[in-house]
Amino acid sequence: MPKPSLYDMNLADLETLMRGWGQPAFRARQIYRQLYVNLAANPAAMTDLPLTLRDRLSAETSIGGLRLVRTQTSDDGLTRKALFALPDGVVVETVLMIYADRATACVSTQAGCAMGCVFCATGKLGLLRNLSPGEIVEQALWASRELRAWQGTGDRGQGTGDRGQGTDRAAGGPQDDGSRWVADAPAPVQQLGRISNLVFMGMGEPLANYDRWWESVQRLHDPQGLNMGARSMTVSTVGLAQGIRRLAGEGLPINLAISLHAPDDALRSALMPINDRFPIGDLLDAAREYIDTTGRRVSFEYVLLQGQNDQPHQALALAKLLRGHTADGANRGVPLLCHVNLIPWNPVPGAPLGRSEHARVRAFQQVLVDYGVACTVRVERGVEIAAACGQLAGANDER
Ligand code: SF4
Repeated sequence: MPKPSLYDMNLADLETLMRGWGQPAFRARQIYRQLYVNLAANPAAMTDLPLTLRDRLSAETSIGGLRLVRTQTSDDGLTRKALFALPDGVVVETVLMIYADRATACVSTQAGCAMGCVFCATGKLGLLRNLSPGEIVEQALWASRELRAWQGTGDRGQGTGDRGQGTDRAAGGPQDDGSRWVADAPAPVQQLGRISNLVFMGMGEPLANYDRWWESVQRLHDPQGLNMGARSMTVSTVGLAQGIRRLAGEGLPINLAISLHAPDDALRSALMPINDRFPIGDLLDAAREYIDTTGRRVSFEYVLLQGQNDQPHQALALAKLLRGHTADGANRGVPLLCHVNLIPWNPVPGAPLGRSEHARVRAFQQVLVDYGVACTVRVERGVEIAAACGQLAGANDER
């Protein structure tokens, strides 16, 4: 039997544990602070606790269950991808991306994924299992430790100098405002005390593991814990409409990114089987409800695949959808409060798809911009280390 992980306990759980051990309640707060503020990796490091309590924690609990199998770095050490094995043998991936002015962790919420998007390496694995809240949180803590270690080495390279806003992801990263394809000249890296952004864009569909994922969000947001601002976190969903509606009612303003990837149902179903369950019309209705309820802008992710979804007439169809036209061409006249992230596809071995050429990406973007849709092209990170989610796990020979 694996020992219970302290990362799978919230503060109330820790207080219950301490009470059961005959310890005062403040010990729970000390442990919590050690885990999330001091980033203690084992009880021995919790030197403000009595030795007997540290020993008992070591004997009867664990601090997480992720075993580092492999790390890969790229972008002059500023992109770091880790492959972790969980106690039952499944593997997950986490990426840390360091920029001039921020550090972003991209974490997984499931091992594998059931959604089967044809352009995605994780989709080829199928769903292995949901991650627990602690297993999700632990990835963010790994990224924080990795960042601290990097800052401590003096091996800081140069930041990419981007000043883009919005979401980052593996093989994604800073956004291009339309005038730049790659980031500006490097700027000096600033001291970052901890990860500043967190994106749920790794392996898996977060809203398909909603309860556990949401508990991890609350833990990461907890001011007594990692204290991540809600607006510093972004969840990316394949478009589970009921999950989007549920998120709208949570009252915590994390950012929402919806993977769209096609302007019509036939193409979207071919690329993303989930579209048969939640076609574009239903998905945009859910997005509208989310925007109306929260007053917040939604991001639409659009991976560009050469000759599949990157043609000018498709850009026009996408623009019309987002400006309020329905799929059958009727005009509702109410544009969605949204932003489009165009993402050059990171090739997945064996997938019969191609990456859109630069000129096609630019032309696609221009159509959207001309139609009044806010749109950026994401500058990539980690292409040479297979940083698109699932590629490292798919190639892992430990499984
Ligand atoms: S793109 Fe996301 S939702 Fe689709 S298969 Fe990959 S991990 Fe799952």
